[in-house]
Amino acid sequence: MADRIRVNPITCEAHGMCAELLPEMITLDDWGYPIVDGRPVPRELVEHARRAVKSCPKFALLIEDKRD
Ligand code: SF4
Repeated sequence: MADRIRVNPITCEAHGMCAELLPEMITLDDWGYPIVDGRPVPRELVEHARRAVKSCPKFALLIEDKRD
């Protein structure tokens, strides 16, 4: 089991909150849109990732439960 972060590019409005809350896995491009690290979320960052997901004002950030 591996949780990965995904951004819905349709609903994301480049608020940048996610990159502030999870800089280890999310950076912003020149326009403020998130670039997500596609690797599985390390165990020690799961809580931070969940907080970033909850904080997105557009509900554009998701954690997907994917099996490799
Ligand atoms: S917080 Fe949400 S709306 Fe803002 S950049 Fe991140 S995914 Fe996009």
